[in-house]
Amino acid sequence: MTTCGYIGLGDMGSAMVECFLAAGGELVVHDLDVERVDAMVALGASAAGSAAEVAQRCDVIEVCVPAAHHVEAVLNGPDGAARSGRAGTVVLIHSTVHPKTVVAEAERARAWGGQVFDVCVGGGVVNAREGELTLFVGGLGDLAPEVVALLDVYGSQVIDAGPVGAGAALKIGFNVMTYAQFAAARTGVDLVKAHGADPEALIDAWRHVGQLGVLTERALPLFSMTPDQIEELGMAGFMRGHVELAEKDLTLAREVGGAADAINGFLDGVRRAMPSVYSLET
Ligand code: NAD
Repeated sequence: MTTCGYIGLGDMGSAMVECFLAAGGELVVHDLDVERVDAMVALGASAAGSAAEVAQRCDVIEVCVPAAHHVEAVLNGPDGAARSGRAGTVVLIHSTVHPKTVVAEAERARAWGGQVFDVCVGGGVVNAREGELTLFVGGLGDLAPEVVALLDVYGSQVIDAGPVGAGAALKIGFNVMTYAQFAAARTGVDLVKAHGADPEALIDAWRHVGQLGVLTERALPLFSMTPDQIEELGMAGFMRGHVELAEKDLTLAREVGGAADAINGFLDGVRRAMPSVYSLET
């Protein structure tokens, strides 16, 4: 039987783990933050003290840490998975990172027999809890059927992106489109408000013509909060976390390249707008 482990129990990781446990799966979990581990153990997961321990106990290791250097630490750090991984161990990277990061980690893992794939996730934590994520998979054709079955627990759409690294590329493109729509929504609403008109009417019209995406609609309340409300509700950390992820992904989009100069200027503008979009700056 395949034994699965999950490393990185933040907003997305914990939501995916909740989904997996709710579907009756058994899971070994690890995070540097012990409270996050304890929360998942309370739901039925089994704790591991390090990535190396996860690799020792599991055939499939899922990784959902923020950025490339965290992935590098999880796989190759002093207590990393490479220490105890073995031939045939499968690593699924859910983090949004540069395609080159996935390709480089796949190369490094070959030394100990590990196989690394990008299984990047589209959708928010609500989709994750409901098993309704979109999964952008690089190297799908090389995954064993039991691993593909695991993906079906998390996702209602599994996309065969192409070779390893292509899943990460699709995910970055997906996020550019998502954040551009967030920035557009915030801009349109502010403009309408400044004119004394009704922003609800604007949103209603956008929804009516099919332009308003579900993710944007879900995020809209965040875009109309005041700094005082954010402070009162203790949401500053949550907002900053989202801004940091957006800035990371829009920086990745620039690094991946491929866009015309004028579009690069647009990407930079959307990235710089993120603190305002998330109501942290006026
Ligand atoms: P997060 O900051 O909420 O959580 C990251 C977790 O990783 C933290 O609990 C942290 O303690 C842990 N971590 C960091 N380094 C570690 C290490 N070396 N070993 C073990 N644990 C470590 O981030 P998140 O929102 O869950 O996002 C994770 C990844 O998923 C990011 O790459 C993000 O871009 C991607 N993603 C997030 C969302 C979302 O809605 N939050 C959606 C799609 C994709």
